[in-house]
Amino acid sequence: MTTNHLFDQLLSARLEDNQSFLRFEDKPDWSYEKTLHLSAQLANSLVSLGVYAGDRVAVKVDKSPYAIALYLACIRCGAVFLPLNSAYTIAEVDYIVVDAKPSLLVCDPSQIQALTRLAESHQLTLKSLDSHGNGELMSIAKQQPTYFMTVTREPDDLAALLYTSGTTGRPKGVMLSHNNLFSNAVSLVKTWHFSRQDVLLHSLPIFHTHGLFVATNVTLVAASSMYLLPKFDVHQLIRLMPHCSVMMGVPTHYVRLLAEPALDHKVAANIRVFISGSAPLLNETYSAFEGRTGNSILERYGMTETNMNTSNLYKGERRVGTVGVALPKVEIRITHANTGVEQKVGEIGMIEVRGPNVFKGYWNMPEKTADEFRSDGFFVTGDLGYVDDEGYLTIEGRVKDLIISGGLNVYPKEIEIAIDLIEGVKESAVYGVNHPDFGEAVVATVVMRNRGSLSENEICERLRPQLARFKQPKRIFLADALPRNTMGKVQKNELRKQHTSLFLP
Ligand code: AMP
Repeated sequence: MTTNHLFDQLLSARLEDNQSFLRFEDKPDWSYEKTLHLSAQLANSLVSLGVYAGDRVAVKVDKSPYAIALYLACIRCGAVFLPLNSAYTIAEVDYIVVDAKPSLLVCDPSQIQALTRLAESHQLTLKSLDSHGNGELMSIAKQQPTYFMTVTREPDDLAALLYTSGTTGRPKGVMLSHNNLFSNAVSLVKTWHFSRQDVLLHSLPIFHTHGLFVATNVTLVAASSMYLLPKFDVHQLIRLMPHCSVMMGVPTHYVRLLAEPALDHKVAANIRVFISGSAPLLNETYSAFEGRTGNSILERYGMTETNMNTSNLYKGERRVGTVGVALPKVEIRITHANTGVEQKVGEIGMIEVRGPNVFKGYWNMPEKTADEFRSDGFFVTGDLGYVDDEGYLTIEGRVKDLIISGGLNVYPKEIEIAIDLIEGVKESAVYGVNHPDFGEAVVATVVMRNRGSLSENEICERLRPQLARFKQPKRIFLADALPRNTMGKVQKNELRKQHTSLFLP
């Protein structure tokens, strides 16, 4: 029956009525048919360049319809798609190339010169592709037929290899199978009621699970269409919003939209659901967005290793501060950080996940993989959280951010909530730094709405009646902004690094 299940799922669009797949930079619509033909031409090109089923194809190009067609081409010829963050340095690309051993590297023409030496030293074929369909790869593709016999793949075969951002240690290659990707996309289509009528506002990068799999695969499976923005641009978002029915973004996107006076009920009226994930959505952002647009943001939770795990309800309660309930066929359990024993409702512990969405392991890292999976198949996510009596999950931060001060556990999120409630505070990040007596000391970096309205000492004073002494920050630093990565995640390791020797003699 099925030959390449992921591709079959992505092909669910009916081609005969010229359904639109995407719009890019005010160019004419890209139909599903055009995308399929181009993916065939690119798949033929990959084969002509010696790419075989199971080979990795590393792709460091700008976001464009051509990049998406290349992703589809890899799936079609059985290759493993390996997207690279377009901001990676040569040294970062080199690390991944050595680890993943791709047979082809595709990059933007502007990077050919910089990457030629690297490609030569690893005997790697290097081809260019830009966001307007120029470059060596497209020159080959244009000569190829628009038909390609899609290669058979089993559900368990690898479809993609994504390197995690690697905020601690070296990046790890996350092995995602065809089944991981299509089971999750099908689940999200149902959960979020996607249909052919939907138009997605897509402003996320496509080298990350959020923009590539959540946004793009869901669109493909539902045969919806999308506005593909080259990057996040708040003015473009406001301009296009009335033409779209769904938006997916990271919390920073919603904060930036709120800073635009033009965002109102009218602009957002056509959007049936705003979805947020990849980093915590502040309650304040949720409420302000609801006040301004009349639309409550639907928060979900996932990670590169697991695809999406939970979602707030589409019809039913969106419980602010939570990331919703487990998706169909996904099991979530909470275990004690030291003993591994399953926790009761309401108790904080490590979030573990099992289901068809969970990856196959880390590339070339069998020991690391074995460490992070339980014998019964649950994956230990590295996130902390608790589940309430109705199954809604609340995330309390990363295990590695847990602060152990004087032998006592301090959950940074509890302290951040207390700080954020102080009048005039915009946001905060709490983290641990080495301390000669306590092992670790609690430290906070705080961003004020108006710098100077409260001093560091005044913030400490306000916290005193709120928090037990061991939880109170030993130092507070004021800053203009928190360091964030492109997905809006606060980079606590940067802050820790800045203050690492604060208490050391
Ligand atoms: P990534 O692999 O880059 O997608 O990062 C996954 C991590 O992002 C998770 O392990 C969580 O720590 C965090 N994350 C994702 N979604 C949420 C969310 N809705 N709220 C809080 N943290 C989130």
